[in-house]
Amino acid sequence: MTQERARVIKIHDRDNVAIVANAGGLPSGARLPDGTVLLEAVPPSHKVALADLPAGAEVIRYGQVIGKAARPIPRGSWVDESLVLLPEPPALDDLPLDTGHAPALPPLPGYSFDGYRNADGTVGTKNLLGILTSVQCVAGVVNVLARRIREELLPRYPNVDDIVAVNHSYGCGVAINAPGAAVPIRTLQNLARHPNFGGEAMIVGLGCEKLEADRLVPQDERHACAGCGGCGGEGPPVLLLQDEAFRGFGDMMAALMRMAGERLERLNRRRREPCPASDLVAGVQCGGSDAFSGVTANPAVGYAADLIVRAGGTVMFSEVTEVRDAIHLLLPRTADIWVGRALLKEMAWYDRYLAAGGADRSANPAPGNKRGGLANVVEKALGSIAKSGSGPIVDVIGPGERVQKSGLVFAATPASDFVCGTLQLAAGMNLQLFTTGRGTPYGLQMAPVLKVSSSQALSERWSDLVDVDASRIAGGGATIEEVGWEIFRLVLDVASGRKRAAADRLGLYNDLVLFNPGPVT
Ligand code: CA
Repeated sequence: MTQERARVIKIHDRDNVAIVANAGGLPSGARLPDGTVLLEAVPPSHKVALADLPAGAEVIRYGQVIGKAARPIPRGSWVDESLVLLPEPPALDDLPLDTGHAPALPPLPGYSFDGYRNADGTVGTKNLLGILTSVQCVAGVVNVLARRIREELLPRYPNVDDIVAVNHSYGCGVAINAPGAAVPIRTLQNLARHPNFGGEAMIVGLGCEKLEADRLVPQDERHACAGCGGCGGEGPPVLLLQDEAFRGFGDMMAALMRMAGERLERLNRRRREPCPASDLVAGVQCGGSDAFSGVTANPAVGYAADLIVRAGGTVMFSEVTEVRDAIHLLLPRTADIWVGRALLKEMAWYDRYLAAGGADRSANPAPGNKRGGLANVVEKALGSIAKSGSGPIVDVIGPGERVQKSGLVFAATPASDFVCGTLQLAAGMNLQLFTTGRGTPYGLQMAPVLKVSSSQALSERWSDLVDVDASRIAGGGATIEEVGWEIFRLVLDVASGRKRAAADRLGLYNDLVLFNPGPVT
């Protein structure tokens, strides 16, 4: 049997390391195409030194310094995480505010999808009854409610896809006026306005909590419901369990079921209609990354992100700790100095947030990232930002804020999958592109999540859990452009309800998790 040809991926001419592309790794003695002979076995997606690196030498991948050699590293060695010392992050104060270097992408007209158009101009990709809660105290009642709605009411409304109960741990026992409280509060307010709830979300509160349930009613509806009759005489979509009219659980449930029924009636009348691709608001995220992520899945998603932006749509990228070390590459892509300043402000805020918690950016990556060949957060960041494509960054929004502009937007969020997912939903995301190398069954009930696999091993092992196999790029079986177009077409199909994401097919949904930088009391 002939031995498999050694394959490595070197991204930039300057790189002095490359990653092993063979699915089973490479043995000691294997000869690479450039003549390098491996001095030891190297696992798949891990790095090999292409040159002799003296102690302290810069280790270069993506044409960027990912760290310094901890000791002399001879050519052909496995460059594992212990050999790469984490460099200082780019200082925010010293960065020149040199913006506007990414040219606008050429328009891509003529693409559309079938979505649910809302009165506020947003477009839904699912038709869901949203049940928001103002405090954890009501979670038990809301869980029973959701179960009863699903069993007793939903079968009568075939055009409604599902019920989403947005339970969380916020709402009381918190410093509601602390500066950090603005984040979870606006997140809940904006979740209530999510395009997939079609303006029909109902809000369940207790009555004595710090976060008053009325505050979750969108501002515009709050005015409409102040006794003007504009809401059809139903009153605001809020129900408090402590309402004195209720004699026990049966009364509460009857009122809640009535409220749900009225909303389901209206949601059931919604129909999909052709909408231009410019109505897409896609989020991109990664989770369980490996060293392949930055050369297969993330660039393919980045290419798809460019296509969505070119079609007039909106793409949000996030995960502050995973862009922080590549900020010097992102800043020139901001459209102007105001966007540049906003980007730096979000980075600085997160630096302080981590410092206040006694942590720094080395808290990322996770052990699994390291087993996947990522030495540190710098290498992870350089691969991560590939998801943002190549276009100009036209806006920056804070955690929990709603997206305002079309184009590529940086939505500042933690990198935690469920927290980032929740915040991107609050921003108005109607579909998410999620790349993974190590594998995660992650999914969101509120919007379709398409999972893009970075490695051949994962694509084979989890063929029913991932939606797109980008590992073909590493093997030469497909180009970044081809996989990017495949993702874009799948986005239009899934947004239209013609195809289903793996997570929706299997019913795999993570809990929504609020980001609360404020104190708990
Ligand atoms: Ca993540």
